[in-house]
Amino acid sequence: MRHAGLDAVYVSEPTTIRLLTGFTGSSGAAVVSRSGTLLVTDPRYSEQAERETHRVRLCTAVGETVERVVARSGIFRRARRIGIDERHLTLSRFRILADGLPRRRFRDAAAMFDELRAVKHPAEIAAVKRAVAVSETVLRALLQLLEPGMRERDIAAEITRLHIEHGAEKDAFDPIVLSGPRTSLIHGRPGTRRIRSGDLVLFDFGCTVEGYRSDITRTVVIGRARPELRRAHSAVLAAREAAVASITAGVPAADVDASARETLKRFGLDDRFPHALGHGIGLSIHEPPRIAPSSQDRLIPGMVFTIEPGVYIPRRFGIRIEDVLVMTERGPLVISHAPRDLIAV
Ligand code: ZN
Ligand code: ZN
Repeated sequence: MRHAGLDAVYVSEPTTIRLLTGFTGSSGAAVVSRSGTLLVTDPRYSEQAERETHRVRLCTAVGETVERVVARSGIFRRARRIGIDERHLTLSRFRILADGLPRRRFRDAAAMFDELRAVKHPAEIAAVKRAVAVSETVLRALLQLLEPGMRERDIAAEITRLHIEHGAEKDAFDPIVLSGPRTSLIHGRPGTRRIRSGDLVLFDFGCTVEGYRSDITRTVVIGRARPELRRAHSAVLAAREAAVASITAGVPAADVDASARETLKRFGLDDRFPHALGHGIGLSIHEPPRIAPSSQDRLIPGMVFTIEPGVYIPRRFGIRIEDVLVMTERGPLVISHAPRDLIAV
């Protein structure tokens, strides 16, 4: 905070509030200042806030906005420069806050918030690892029961059920299960299509353990894959290997993205990969760092992120392989271990 020239920060994004206070509710605001930490919630959450926080001053906003209560609380008494995250504060809420705090200077502290989220404590990394392990157990179970005739939507429901059965709190996001020509829909929603022999089936799912998320993708084939699919799968796998091999502590994320794209180019498929190579993962499914051509981030120890190259031919097929990695002092550690070859079910 002092680094950034700030006396206090105002936090309105729920997962960052959780990280700073332990409170897991979906609404409220927190302030971290030199004189301590304040959490303001509304009456729905007062008991929960008491149970979940420790050494945090608590207030409940009854019949008024949390911003008004924060402004009146006195926590900013000696603070002149206040950091906010413009991406997570609406203009109307900012106005209430600023009106209640005359003579204060507000600064966007997005970079500081990103750093706080991107570099994880060992306990956070351990939670992501547990979430990844649960999803991999679910993937193994799923491959055992997959057979022609099943509908995408029923398989997705089974993923949700298996996540809970194996100890997760919930899915990390709505599971993606796509089959046949629908696999080219990058973030498609599972539908009523029934899988058939010769189809690719793409799974992209994750779960939540202690608030931390997993996110893995595998593409499998039902029966035998036609040559076009085998070749594209090899290209995606080669791009994944090249990307992982290019990761060293401190590497620019854009360079890692470029190694995947250069590999796909050798297969003539670089124009079939329209999304970023990866993203940070933690309390949110997408958080810093960004691993994309335009990223300014560097991959430094403590970061947890995905690597997920793909190839998509509209109306024909799509293939993606996604792993979760942790950056350590000695280099990257891949924490998802499910087989990456084109598995025939
Ligand atoms: Zn994913
Ligand atoms: Zn992802």
